[in-house]
Amino acid sequence: MIHPKLIPIFHQPFVAMSPAVLITKVEIYKSRIVLKEPFKISLGILTHAENVIVKLTTDAGITGFGECSPFLTINGESMDTCFIVAQYLGKTLINKNALDIAGCTVVMEKVIYANNSIKSAFDMALHDIAAHHAGQPLYEFLGGTNSKTLITDYTVSIDDPAKMASDAARIKANGFQVIKVKLGQRIDLDLERMRRIREAVGMEIPIRIDANQGWDPQSALTLLNNLAPLNIQHCEEPIPRWNFMALPELKKKSPIRLMADESCCDQHDARRLIDLDACDLFNVKLGKSGGIFNAMQIAEIAENHNISIQVGGFLESRLAFTAAAHFALASDNIIYCDFDTPLMFVDDPVSGGIEYDRQGVISVPEIAGLGASFSEDYLQDLESVSVY
Ligand SMILES: [Mg+2]
Repeated sequence: MIHPKLIPIFHQPFVAMSPAVLITKVEIYKSRIVLKEPFKISLGILTHAENVIVKLTTDAGITGFGECSPFLTINGESMDTCFIVAQYLGKTLINKNALDIAGCTVVMEKVIYANNSIKSAFDMALHDIAAHHAGQPLYEFLGGTNSKTLITDYTVSIDDPAKMASDAARIKANGFQVIKVKLGQRIDLDLERMRRIREAVGMEIPIRIDANQGWDPQSALTLLNNLAPLNIQHCEEPIPRWNFMALPELKKKSPIRLMADESCCDQHDARRLIDLDACDLFNVKLGKSGGIFNAMQIAEIAENHNISIQVGGFLESRLAFTAAAHFALASDNIIYCDFDTPLMFVDDPVSGGIEYDRQGVISVPEIAGLGASFSEDYLQDLESVSVY
């Protein structure tokens, strides 16, 4: 069920209508943060997070924060395109009711096709305002409870097998309970990587792998069969996203559960993958779905079809991952978290928000709204534009 608060206000006959909370100002910032080490996947190497922050001000005195981390080769957006498109979206949202998240989502869809990364930043800020206005932590506003333990994995970047094995050993020694491994190149090399990693960390600690679309279907099946004895929890996006019609056969034959990531962006993708019986799990990222409003619909579709969910992200800071954590508490069907990227930042610009303990266990703020913000001290030095 979609939570009643997420149904457009004009479709809620039995819900007392709150006075509108009008958006009066939209501030957009470019936020660039250095990573401790380059993040390497089969789609490329990143040395910085290049994110966009959206701050919405309302006539009720409530402000909302959102953030996105566009990824050129996955959602076709960059910090620069987001900075421009955010101005289109911002102009359209001025004087709109921030509490009508469904209505604002419709408005954003009418402005521009796709661009789900920047749309997710607006969606997050709208949810921050609405939950704050309701006096509830966001997870509660979404119909969830803070009653399950969220544990993040930590990712091993793609590299030579010896380096990956030593990285995995260090992650385990640091206390993390789950390891994620980036693969997706030559399958003999990928097999060698996984053998070396298992030698280094033993067979017990859960390991999930991610090919980021790097294999063809035949190679994927060969490798997944060879990896089966290595106790792999699941494999994300084995083949190119455009080749999703080949996923059902691969799923049928694979000894390892398949998780759709790049091929599962929004609720329409989720429905199609279910219709095709193409995967066992979804990886939901707010930056792919266009935000929480659509992600809740993915969660509903998944729950109705026994598909469990991992929540992940791109290179967002703790602010966007705080939104992701609230979302993760909103459905019992969300069972895995991949929230490690804020731990890879040299600087942490976020006030409040989720906290990580040494075992990768995440605590979610119990205050109204998102419970995370960027300080004015941080924002004032960033390139920015305001829309009134
Ligand atoms: Mg992935």
